[in-house]
Amino acid sequence: AAKRAGGSTYAFFESSMEQDARNQLEIQHDLRSAIERSELELYYQPKIDGKSGQITGAEALIRWHHPKRGLVMPGIFIPVAERFGLIGALGNWVLEESCRQLREWLDQGLRMRVAVNLSVHQLRQEDLVQRIRRSVESHRIDASLLTFEITESVAMEDTQATMKAFAQLAHLGSTVSIDDFGTGYSSLAYLRKLPARQLKIDRSFVMDLDTSTDALAVVDAVIKLAHALGLRVVAEGVETARQRDILLSLNCDELQGYFFAKPMSAAKLTLWAMVDDKNEQQDFRPSLYVSGHQMLQ
Ligand code: C2E
Ligand code: MG
Ligand code: MG
Ligand code: MG
Repeated sequence: AAKRAGGSTYAFFESSMEQDARNQLEIQHDLRSAIERSELELYYQPKIDGKSGQITGAEALIRWHHPKRGLVMPGIFIPVAERFGLIGALGNWVLEESCRQLREWLDQGLRMRVAVNLSVHQLRQEDLVQRIRRSVESHRIDASLLTFEITESVAMEDTQATMKAFAQLAHLGSTVSIDDFGTGYSSLAYLRKLPARQLKIDRSFVMDLDTSTDALAVVDAVIKLAHALGLRVVAEGVETARQRDILLSLNCDELQGYFFAKPMSAAKLTLWAMVDDKNEQQDFRPSLYVSGHQMLQ
């Protein structure tokens, strides 16, 4: 708010800071009971195979149904959770809920894969892998159904912890994915050493593909590099048919974004995946394929 007003008066700036702090305290306070009150929900956003057009899995994205504020997005409360030491409990809930949902889908005859976002705090948890193993075992699912997304900047923040956790997750049989790639400063040598199997190109590059030949050159180079290192490439934030076509021509392995589907409830994803199943025998005809799904949105 201070910025919007041009930050003209000190008093205004101060009061808005106070308001911000009060806001954060309030969010923090409410968040403490959100898990018990079942106010949290995982939404799922499909990832699409570039060759077949089939769904390869879905990314779990947390949502908070706040009794007064309505739907609160993770961009608002994840930083608060991190700051007030609540991210551990939140992360554990996400993990447990993802495994529970995978089991429910399996029981419905749907073999889905789920990608879970991990915070830097979770990477440093001594018992992270043990916890994952416990969740996986208690819901009788295979760890290979899980992918763990870690943003490039988080991965670089603590390379020791990252290396260790990545190796353990890979050993479990899960896929390790580097999220928001291109926003950090990974050296090529470091990238080569990581036991990651997947790299997600940040939305900021995908967004510019339509208009910028620079962005195209960067994305082309990143995909070639990733392939040379044996990584699968996912493009996030695909919003237009043109972006999709460019990415496919650059041999991008998987696509994700509003163009295909927004994050949705588990129940909606079940329907979405069923439509996908029916299209199984068809060639990848994007326009046809996409309109089939849009009916459900
Ligand atoms: P992320 O992991 O990079 O997830 C991608 C974000 O981009 C999601 O926002 C998604 O809804 C949004 N998105 C997907 N496709 C498009 C598109 O075509 N256009 C645009 N404009 N946006 C698109 P969301 O759900 O608000 O999540 C934001 C971030 O919060 C995530 O970024 C992730 O870092 C974090 N987050 C979400 N859920 C969790 C969680 O369970 N645990 C942790 N630690 N972090 C989470
Ligand atoms: Mg992610
Ligand atoms: Mg991302
Ligand atoms: Mg992102």
